[in-house]
Amino acid sequence: ALTLENTLNWLHGFDQVIEAKKAYLSQLDTPIGDGDHGNNLARGAAAIEAALEKNKPTDLTAALKTIAMALVSKVGGASGALYGTAFLEMAKTSQKTQALPDLLAAGLAGIQKRGSATTGEKTMVDVWAPVVTAAQAGELDQAVVDQAVQATKEMQATKGRASYVGEKSVGHLDPGAVSSGYLFTELLKTGV
Ligand code: ADP
Ligand code: MG
Ligand code: MG
Repeated sequence: ALTLENTLNWLHGFDQVIEAKKAYLSQLDTPIGDGDHGNNLARGAAAIEAALEKNKPTDLTAALKTIAMALVSKVGGASGALYGTAFLEMAKTSQKTQALPDLLAAGLAGIQKRGSATTGEKTMVDVWAPVVTAAQAGELDQAVVDQAVQATKEMQATKGRASYVGEKSVGHLDPGAVSSGYLFTELLKTGV
């Protein structure tokens, strides 16, 4: 289950990885997008760190809400709204349950409500959906995450900016799928 403590560890880990991988994520976004994904998320990561330091949430719901607001207000780009909505929906659901599969499912539902992408459209949904399915089956591990990220390479984008380049999007990893892969890798590292 998610707790205040493991969630803070989770996001601190994510924020560090995003800062370290900023250039790579923006590079992935260059051939099939506008080259800003790493810079967008690095602004979000810095905002999350600042907000958690300033507000010092004392329960899980407050922490998830603080993270969501930092993402929505500081990231810009499609990914800010999508990640922000995911954490906001997790915050709402955390008032009823702290079970990880339920929280991740709520996050995915938020992303899909906001962006209306389904699986196979070469977006972060292609990582979130298999992760939720595996978590619900009690089978979430690093291999699930890695396979989901890699599978976006051969997909043709039909949602988001990458859809503008049509079939030229094939052969490139989706940047939002890669950053979502980092999110779940850091989650697994907390041992949740
Ligand atoms: P922008 O495209 O506005 O520059 P980013 O570069 O930060 O935003 O984020 C791009 C990522 O957002 C994509 O790689 C993809 O994973 C994700 N994305 C874009 N549109 C959608 C959508 N409709 N549903 C889910 N994810 C999306
Ligand atoms: Mg972009
Ligand atoms: Mg952009």
